[in-house]
Amino acid sequence: MERNEKRVKTVKEIIVDTSKCVGCRACEIACSAFHTIPKYSSVNTARSRIMVVMDEFRDIFVPIRAGQYTQAECNGRNRYMIDGKEYDECTFCPASCPSRSAFREPDSGLPLKCDMCESDPPLEKPMCVDACTFGALTYEEREEEKAEQETRGDIEIAFEVLAKKYGKKKVMDAFTRLSKD
Ligand code: SF4
Ligand code: SF4
Repeated sequence: MERNEKRVKTVKEIIVDTSKCVGCRACEIACSAFHTIPKYSSVNTARSRIMVVMDEFRDIFVPIRAGQYTQAECNGRNRYMIDGKEYDECTFCPASCPSRSAFREPDSGLPLKCDMCESDPPLEKPMCVDACTFGALTYEEREEEKAEQETRGDIEIAFEVLAKKYGKKKVMDAFTRLSKD
């Protein structure tokens, strides 16, 4: 059953100013280090939840943060023309999607999603923003009234991805084993 109710929500935003981005990828490094277990123990930008997209002439850099996982590739796509150049239709897409390797954990294949660097105690600002010394990323928070809908949790999504890769039974068996440990 779907539940709708109003509540005030803190919306966290990262404002991207592409005119200031120099493509240094410090944001990718900081994000991947923060999400390593234990934190900061290694750097692997393939695990980053932010990806700096650049064209072959390196005259535009667009940092993209990983968004929601999507099960199927979309059949309606956007084409981008910027300064007379046409960009690949998936270039600026933030989704972790089965049709490409972007925003996937390299070992497990699990989808990666920006979590705004949630941690306890909370950070003053997300790692990528902190690492960007060129001012291309700015962090802002605002209050917004939202209709809340029940959404699928990360565990449910992770289960679906693993079940697709290894089969439902294997994953169920693994979950049962883990719950007994
Ligand atoms: S750290 Fe800042 S300047 Fe460097 S690539 Fe990331 S957004 Fe661009
Ligand atoms: S906000 Fe945090 S999790 Fe999201 S892209 Fe930036 S560093 Fe990564």
